[in-house]
Amino acid sequence: MSEAVSGTRQGSDGPLLDVQDLVVHHGQLRALSGISLRVFPGEVYAIIGANGAGKSTLLRTIAGLHHPTAGSIVYDGRDVTGLRPERRATAGIVMVPENRRLFPSLTVEENLKVGATYARSGPWTIDKVYDLFPWMTERRGQRAVQLSGGEQQSVAIGRALVANPRMLLLDELSLGLAPVIVQRIYGMLPQILQSGVTVLLVEQDVSQAMRVATNLQCLLEGHTTLEGKPSDVTAAQVEAAYFGTAGAVAGQPGDGSEA
Ligand code: ATP
Repeated sequence: MSEAVSGTRQGSDGPLLDVQDLVVHHGQLRALSGISLRVFPGEVYAIIGANGAGKSTLLRTIAGLHHPTAGSIVYDGRDVTGLRPERRATAGIVMVPENRRLFPSLTVEENLKVGATYARSGPWTIDKVYDLFPWMTERRGQRAVQLSGGEQQSVAIGRALVANPRMLLLDELSLGLAPVIVQRIYGMLPQILQSGVTVLLVEQDVSQAMRVATNLQCLLEGHTTLEGKPSDVTAAQVEAAYFGTAGAVAGQPGDGSEA
């Protein structure tokens, strides 16, 4: 079922990211109710779920943009639960936000330079991003607002890469894009993984997530309804977990990532 892509697995056997029992509220609303996941180096871990399931809240909390009510986020063996977002970025946790969030009046290159603000040292430079997306070279002076949705998404990915992430968080890359563009953008994933980056992504497009993921977790109203490798879950289980209908078989949270 899966054509998961994976990068070079790094030295340590431990998870790069270990989230335990995360509870997040937006005011009175409990958006996440005890979410746990472990992402190992070189993996592509996908969070799937319908609108409002809590996927973006999870990613944004890992990036430091929401404060959890309870639970812990350990990154590279270090508890980062209370760390400010920019400190997480310099530690290597970098997010491509939902809806790209480029600076529309800045050029392609200026947007990429913004990404380098909290950069770690590493293989990614603006020139390397141009190698990954050759069309950008000619259009480096063009304003972001003049780009198509797919082009903007590529710039948003490039902006994240120049920060030299170890843990790249991708929030709904496919949002608002035609399937052929989505395929093209996800086609970059192997090269990104090869550079040593580990990926945690959020997708509403379940088949896309199943194609690229080494592990997945389905959220429904802030709860885990399914967890496992794409090859170990059936389409019926995914559908049940996604919509909350009978038939979902939840995995043991936190146990599905090691093999
Ligand atoms: P979508 O695909 O629509 O982005 P999602 O799975 O990413 O959905 P979240 O955006 O994390 O879900 O939202 C989870 C719940 O929290 C929803 O009920 C949403 O309305 C609520 N929510 C999200 N962000 C905020 C916020 N900043 N303030 C108040 N409520 C919020």
